[in-house]
Amino acid sequence: MSLGGKSALVTGSTSGIGQAIAEAFAAQGCNVMLNGFGDAGAIETLRAGLAKKCGVKVEHDGADMSKPAEIAALVAKTRAVLGGVDILVNNAGIQYVAPVEQFPAEKWDAIIAINLSAAFHAIHEALPLMKAAGWGRIINIASTHGLVASAQKVAYVAAKHGIVGLTKVVGMECADTGVTCNAICPGWVMTPLVRKQIEARAAEQGIPAEEAQRNLLAEKQPQLQFTTTEQIAGLALFLASDAASNMQGTQLVSDGGWTAQ
Ligand code: NAD
Repeated sequence: MSLGGKSALVTGSTSGIGQAIAEAFAAQGCNVMLNGFGDAGAIETLRAGLAKKCGVKVEHDGADMSKPAEIAALVAKTRAVLGGVDILVNNAGIQYVAPVEQFPAEKWDAIIAINLSAAFHAIHEALPLMKAAGWGRIINIASTHGLVASAQKVAYVAAKHGIVGLTKVVGMECADTGVTCNAICPGWVMTPLVRKQIEARAAEQGIPAEEAQRNLLAEKQPQLQFTTTEQIAGLALFLASDAASNMQGTQLVSDGGWTAQ
């Protein structure tokens, strides 16, 4: 497939799943707006390397996705410097693990803001541009936690169920506009977000990280393998392709059997 001439905004793309999606889109000729936090030098190396390797425009903007005004400015900047916002990938996300009665209110607020409300604000800004162009793809990175729950993840599970609901509504409203809105629900993917959880479990239980990793997989994913960031990027490419043009408001699940049980 070719995405030549198109432009994508991928939130939270300085690491993990978002970075892999940005790389996959750039490899298909798509201009990319990177977003996310991290070391300025490392981000510039990523930006410049991707632009050179793929021969596309790649920019970075450090908008904080918990702040609606910064999200609006990010969408406007993407349009201004890349010429449009044809593809929006709502990916930025954080995690926090604690029982509900010990869950800090500020962590709840941050997770709802970044993992859920940010997608609303970005869609609110980008959808009119897509509708005017008569083509667009909104891809929301949800989770198996958008479909089922795990203890100690009240904010994350609530936000991801919210993303699945938001995806359905936006999908319905986009019907017959040339724009589609769908979600991807990964199970465990080895990224810094999950690595932190493995390290916390190893420390808590006094076991080696490898054992904590095996236990984490065995609890949820019968396939006993992590989904890779490249596999999630492949699903995002599929959702951007013509083959997916009649998919609307739905979820693609890649979870090693987690939600089949
Ligand atoms: P990650 O920690 O590797 O990357 C998260 C990205 O989001 C980084 O680029 C970070 O800078 C950015 N970010 C965080 N807070 C931000 C903010 N306020 N504003 C802008 N950017 C911000 O995590 P990941 O595992 O790649 O997760 C990406 C998405 O995939 C998240 O929505 C996550 O919930 C989802 N997901 C991950 C897994 C998994 O197992 N890793 C599974 C299911 C869903």
